[in-house]
Amino acid sequence: MKYYHPLLLTPGPTPVPEHILHATQLPMVGHRSSDFEAIAEQAFKSLKPIFGSKNEVMILTSSGTSVLEASMLNIANPDDDIVVIVSGAFGNRFKQIAETYYDNVHIFEVEWGQAVSVPDFIDFLKSLNTEITAVFSQYCETSTAVLHPVHELGKALNDFDSSIYFVVDGVSCIGAVDVDLERDYIDVLVSGSQKAIMLPPGLGFVAYNNRAKERFNAVETPRFYLDLNKYLKSLAEHSTPFTPNVSLFRGVNAYAELINAEGLDQVVARHYAIRDGLRQALKALDLELLVQDVYASPTVTAFTPKSKDELNYIKSELKNRFAITIAGGQGHLKGQILRIGHMGQISPFDILQVVSALEILLSEFRNESYVGKAITQYMEVVKAYV
Ligand SMILES: *Cc1c(COP(=O)(O)O)cnc(C)c1O
Repeated sequence: MKYYHPLLLTPGPTPVPEHILHATQLPMVGHRSSDFEAIAEQAFKSLKPIFGSKNEVMILTSSGTSVLEASMLNIANPDDDIVVIVSGAFGNRFKQIAETYYDNVHIFEVEWGQAVSVPDFIDFLKSLNTEITAVFSQYCETSTAVLHPVHELGKALNDFDSSIYFVVDGVSCIGAVDVDLERDYIDVLVSGSQKAIMLPPGLGFVAYNNRAKERFNAVETPRFYLDLNKYLKSLAEHSTPFTPNVSLFRGVNAYAELINAEGLDQVVARHYAIRDGLRQALKALDLELLVQDVYASPTVTAFTPKSKDELNYIKSELKNRFAITIAGGQGHLKGQILRIGHMGQISPFDILQVVSALEILLSEFRNESYVGKAITQYMEVVKAYV
């Protein structure tokens, strides 16, 4: 057997830095004690810059989907008309949640792999000819590796009808993008712990502006664990309404320390440099990219191998021979694409590991030498960052 250093490159969960792991393994404290209050106070506050939020960020002990659901149940009343942009598997999840609770759900379909066209979307809203309460969209649609133009969308929505709440699922990009609720016209921005925030799975985050906070209180849709008013009330007391994952709250604070040490701007720049380098590398390997450059996410990259056999060979050999885990496609893209996650504490040089493994595997599979080709392209891009 030959040894290769394991590398987890799925678009969540992501590798957890040691600094965070250590923090999560400290001795337990009572969640109704002053020990926890100090941890929680810091955690709510330390997430503000990451989410571009003036208000402290709520933390729920549950996975990302729970805050997608919470963002809907606390913004829309049962009879409201809501709009969901569906551009992939996670847009579908928003749609499924919406259809579970609401009758007046309007779906704006975007071809998978494409970003939402803002003018087309506004035309769609006009064509509905009804009062819309809220629009729900992914920021990064993880299943296709598209980063939607959220600022342009928020601005256009605000120009169209500023009373509409704009709710954004940032589970797979918050921590790796420059976002600002006010600048980007976002009312509610949700995320989870196990993606770019590089914690173990298990926490959901909700950032919100003041008008969203008022709205949470006015909405009458039934909800219990996901009633954000409970979390807001507790947050003011540096606490949580139900038993929190104390360990992961400590992890949040350790995460914020890492981000502050590196600088959020640098963290974002690193993700973009890796994205740009990896895209050039994949092109050099004659692998087709699913998403056009302008809408490519800094956290995950999707590509299309030349055949199903090639796809299966890449995925299984990366895992079984080189200990590198990447992801397949979801929904109808299953068996069509592969996705490399590159979010969290990934160094530009870590990506050389997967790029060189791909050179070897494709040289074998296609009987043609790619050795050195993709790495050269990768380094040509990344040298400007390092
Ligand atoms: C992963 C993900 C989710 C769901 O998160 P879970 O933690 O699996 O519930 C929601 N939206 C997006 C965009 C994601 O990438």
